Amino acid sequence: MHLLIRGLVGATAVLTLGAAAAAASHRASDAAHTPADSLRVPILVYHSVMPHHPGQTSEQRVLDVSDSAFTAQMHYLVDNGYHVVSFAALVDALEGRDTLPKHAVVLTFDDGWVNQYHHAFPILRRFGMTATFFVFTTPIGKDGKLMTWDQLRELQAAGMTIGSHTRTHPVLPDYHAALHNEIVMSRADIAHHLGRAPDFFAYPFGAWDSASAAWARTAGYRAARAYRGGAWNSASDLYHLRAIPVTDNMEKFERAVSGERTRVMAHQTSTRR
Ligand SMILES: [Zn+2]
Repeated sequence: MHLLIRGLVGATAVLTLGAAAAAASHRASDAAHTPADSLRVPILVYHSVMPHHPGQTSEQRVLDVSDSAFTAQMHYLVDNGYHVVSFAALVDALEGRDTLPKHAVVLTFDDGWVNQYHHAFPILRRFGMTATFFVFTTPIGKDGKLMTWDQLRELQAAGMTIGSHTRTHPVLPDYHAALHNEIVMSRADIAHHLGRAPDFFAYPFGAWDSASAAWARTAGYRAARAYRGGAWNSASDLYHLRAIPVTDNMEKFERAVSGERTRVMAHQTSTRR
């Protein structure tokens, strides 16, 4: 009898799990394994912003966003009711200290390329948007392709956030001996030159492991950003926040920022007709 009941309960449980799994798989495309306290706030990642030009490698052609595409993307955010919020605002929300406006988006720029200063910065100012620039510190002032400390001070004074992206841009999990130098000392470099220690860190190539995440926390950063992974994050992701690399592709951009919202709006539009 006991065995029979166990068997029946077991069968019921299997059926229930099957239904739940099927329902979950529908949601999985947008919210793969997300805890209940997760927020869908896309952290967009840009590299170079400049007109496309001959001599770009195929990788650059994909990673670099042209001025006109970047302007169109910022227009899209404004026209469709998105709110660009600071990296700090997202971290505050993940920690439960504050709430975000609906349809919040975070803008980040990696590597400190000088084209970000010449091309993205004026567009951001025109739209009144804030962004976070993750820079690696050793070549600053020596490599003409990167922003100078003066230019970074200007960004900071204009309301932009400067974050650390290490000193020399290594694959951190491959260089455990360098973690202190790359993660702690790059923070000191920025504090020395900009007058305030950065609160945020981004892993070069998005490559992190438990040791590098632990160093990011110990160094005093409030949060650290990885690279890919999508738009959902929770408090447990603070030292490996998922993000979304941006390209010129406008359709992909719209999907990245809107997620489920596009499908819901499309449905509402079709039922109204
Ligand atoms: Zn980088």
